[in-house]
Amino acid sequence: MLRTPLLMAARSSVCRTVVEAAPGTGALVSRYVAGTTQERAMPVVGALVADRYVTLDHLGEDVGDAAQAQTTVDAYTRLLADLADAGHAERAEVSVKLSAVGQFLPGDGEKIALENAREICRAAEAAGTTVTLDMEDHTTTDSTLGILRELRVDFPWVGAVLQAYLRRTEADCRDLATAGSRVRLCKGAYDEPESVAFRGKREVDLSYVRCLKALMAGDGYPMVASHDPRLIAIAGVLAEDNGRSADSYEYQMLYGIRAAEQVRIAADGRRLRVYVPYGDQWYGYFMRRLAERPANVAFFLRSLVSK
Ligand code: FAD
Repeated sequence: MLRTPLLMAARSSVCRTVVEAAPGTGALVSRYVAGTTQERAMPVVGALVADRYVTLDHLGEDVGDAAQAQTTVDAYTRLLADLADAGHAERAEVSVKLSAVGQFLPGDGEKIALENAREICRAAEAAGTTVTLDMEDHTTTDSTLGILRELRVDFPWVGAVLQAYLRRTEADCRDLATAGSRVRLCKGAYDEPESVAFRGKREVDLSYVRCLKALMAGDGYPMVASHDPRLIAIAGVLAEDNGRSADSYEYQMLYGIRAAEQVRIAADGRRLRVYVPYGDQWYGYFMRRLAERPANVAFFLRSLVSK
């Protein structure tokens, strides 16, 4: 019931001002965000790579001009160089939202985003690591997959995210289940209309399993991004049924969610990658995490009134 209003609030500048100024916000944000600067996030990465893998997200989305998009590119190139210097590049890659590098800019936004993403890929290649393109709402799917195709000509290791709640995704999974193709399968975090998306939990979960079957049976590298214990168990069975070795797929979870399960999966000899967001543009990301779990909202509201 709260999901839709929270996801609408995620796009409202008025709500943003209120939430950012609220006294209880900082504590809850720090549960999901590794720090407001790269300097604060790096020790978190250093600790995680001891037993897990990491993908870092420099927070930000939907930039308003080309200069802001370039600022995002600069942040990623600095991050990638520092990951290499710290010796983390083997276990830490980056996740990039194309809207943060210009995809929605009027006129030639897509072209700007492609060139900016290329610059980030070149920096990743120099650092010895990889890039995965995050997926935003359904109006961006075709554009994002188009940019992915272009990038993969020069950088075949670029990964993509597919969202099981979209009706189209099972077909996209089959298309992308090819050799060398890295696909992160998640349920999907935006508020999508019934015309393009499954809206009920059961339908989304069933779609997730169909998509997983396509990815696990294919020749690509599936990245199982979910905290859902049933889907994690099903992924394990499908990997075994398809004769996959532990290094031919991986599990992924978000920073701050089910940390004990992350440790357990890694200790079990399976690959577990943690998605680690950092930066001061945390509002949209934070609101999507609130929307995923009603208990978070109650906790957040209580923290506001108890201050
Ligand atoms: P759910 O059924 O939502 O959750 C299962 C269980 O996980 C819950 O019962 C709860 O115990 C725990 N849990 C889930 N969410 C929370 C939370 N916020 N706080 C506390 N506990 C929680 N979505 C996109 O649309 N685009 C992307 O590019 C994208 N990238 C992602 C990358 C990674 C690595 C991951 C893990 C998720 C990503 N997502 C992305 C988000 C995803 O679409 C879901 O919204 C999110 O993962 C919750 O779905 P779930 O599969 O964990 O299942």
